[in-house]
Amino acid sequence: MLKYPRLIIDLKKLEHNIKELKSFCGKDSIDVAGVIKGFNGSLDMALKYDEMGLPIIASSRLEHLEPLKGKVKAKLMTIRIPMLSEISDVIRITDISLNSEIEVLKALNKEALKQDKTHDVILMKDLGDLREGFWDEHEIIEAALLVENELSNLNLLGIGTNLGCYGSIVPTVDKLNELVYVAEKIEDKIGRKLQYISGGATSSLPRLFEGNMPKRINMLRVGEAIIFPEVIKDDWNCDASFMEKEVFKLQTEVVEIKIKPSYPVGETYIDAFGNKPVYEDIGNRKRALVALGKVDYAFLDKLQLLEEEAFIVGASSDHTIIDITDAKRDIYVGDIIEFGLCYQTLVYLTNSDNVNKVFIK
Ligand SMILES: *Cc1c(COP(=O)(O)O)cnc(C)c1O
Repeated sequence: MLKYPRLIIDLKKLEHNIKELKSFCGKDSIDVAGVIKGFNGSLDMALKYDEMGLPIIASSRLEHLEPLKGKVKAKLMTIRIPMLSEISDVIRITDISLNSEIEVLKALNKEALKQDKTHDVILMKDLGDLREGFWDEHEIIEAALLVENELSNLNLLGIGTNLGCYGSIVPTVDKLNELVYVAEKIEDKIGRKLQYISGGATSSLPRLFEGNMPKRINMLRVGEAIIFPEVIKDDWNCDASFMEKEVFKLQTEVVEIKIKPSYPVGETYIDAFGNKPVYEDIGNRKRALVALGKVDYAFLDKLQLLEEEAFIVGASSDHTIIDITDAKRDIYVGDIIEFGLCYQTLVYLTNSDNVNKVFIK
């Protein structure tokens, strides 16, 4: 029997969401690159992206893509600007990379020649979010011309942008039109159309819901919306009810049940993380201690307790404390308490060896 904590992953819901998002974007002739970094590239999940027919599977980490090599029809794309120290793996493992440095492009070309390959590149334009991408318009045009005319083992597949990550910039119609404008300038200079204009991630989906996506945008790189379609409504107020919520559930085991004071007894100073929390005295309370903690999910305030009339009290590295004084059901040592997740907690949970993954097929 698999131990707890368990992360329950509903592959049927995942399949449904991939299929629905693919056809939703397909109506506007947009290809979806399925981004698998949010669940640490879990192979069982990643293979679904291929089975459902997404043309590209993408991640920021080559470790997530390598196991897929030779197993999938989809092209593999690395979406973090390559490190110079990983160039040979980028060429060996992936078909496409996102780029913003001429030095890296030259290194990719040299390595592609060595491995006798043609590698596709998408040049990134920073439109104000201030993470990756060429800032200067002339510089990205120059890079495009270099790839097109001189780096013979690279293929200039298109250009792209990333928004809403560092600078929390919204992919408005204007922003995306800026990208199309740069793309068309490049097309003028190289005398052909670019295959892809990659217009962002989950945060660009509202353009499709509102029907105002610039026509030339024909690729989105989507991670969060497929695994947590909840955010489409919660963050962007668009109706994605055709997608399935709660793809994931976390199950934890109760290791202690006791009635204790709610206010620490003694002289308070700092907790396990060096903080000085504020405690409220609400008298004696019945508390359940479950066996997992901040090391597993990092963000206590982002855990969603699925136990009626109970609430989360606090946590340390390996324990989480739940107030069950008013809980609807009787809870005993060895019982299971469940939580709902979000992107931020999932990234940590899927990266924790303490957490067993169970797939609903
Ligand atoms: C993570 C990432 C994505 C996916 O973002 P979501 O918000 O999860 O859809 C797309 N593009 C790049 C460059 C990324 O780093």
